[in-house]
Amino acid sequence: MSDYVIPAPQVHEIPVAGGGTFPVRRVYCIGRNYAAHAIEMGHDPNREPPFFFQKNPNNLDPSGEFPYPPHSSDVHHEAEMYVALKSGGTNIAVDDALDHVFGYGLSLDMTRRDLQGQMKKMGRPWEIGKAFERSAPCGPIHKASEVGHLDQGPITLTVNGETRQEGDLNQMIWKVPEMISYLSDYFELAAGDVILSGTPSGVGPVNQGDVMVLAVDKLGSLTVNVT
Ligand code: MN
Repeated sequence: MSDYVIPAPQVHEIPVAGGGTFPVRRVYCIGRNYAAHAIEMGHDPNREPPFFFQKNPNNLDPSGEFPYPPHSSDVHHEAEMYVALKSGGTNIAVDDALDHVFGYGLSLDMTRRDLQGQMKKMGRPWEIGKAFERSAPCGPIHKASEVGHLDQGPITLTVNGETRQEGDLNQMIWKVPEMISYLSDYFELAAGDVILSGTPSGVGPVNQGDVMVLAVDKLGSLTVNVT
């Protein structure tokens, strides 16, 4: 029993499909990671190094509700698949990266776009636009041992039944093993880390009362009400 002088923060957890919960340690998000159009063949020779930002572990919210946050009038949806790690380390080779994946799930990188834009203009950090309370609605983790490793298949988001985002996981500029390897060169990854893998084109604003439905075949669908 530790001699804490204040109440200890709780470990944040998200559900696992089929039972159990996953304790979250860190949340990394990759910036622009989908080419605007389908990649017909080969890789993009012009790709720039990836960049990452972080959300807080307890920003992940499996409740199915997204309370419209204060201090913004332009809150955008970004439909993303997330990757949950069961182990980590540093300098992980691309070829070994998938060994560290526990599973995959659906998530939304909700963004106060107006505030993010102001921060970009001033060269300041993005947290105020990205890492606010409940900013990452998510579905349960589907174990890789059951659904396999996801590197292709449609990812779609509708708002009130209208398609807003449509892409394919195979359009990611930086693939999941590359993201894990790259991150592990700069940070020590560990069990409990979650990586949001970027969003296809079509991001846009939501309003209170909207219903977002995100889907990836093997991960089912995630319905989130904006309240
Ligand atoms: Mn994003």
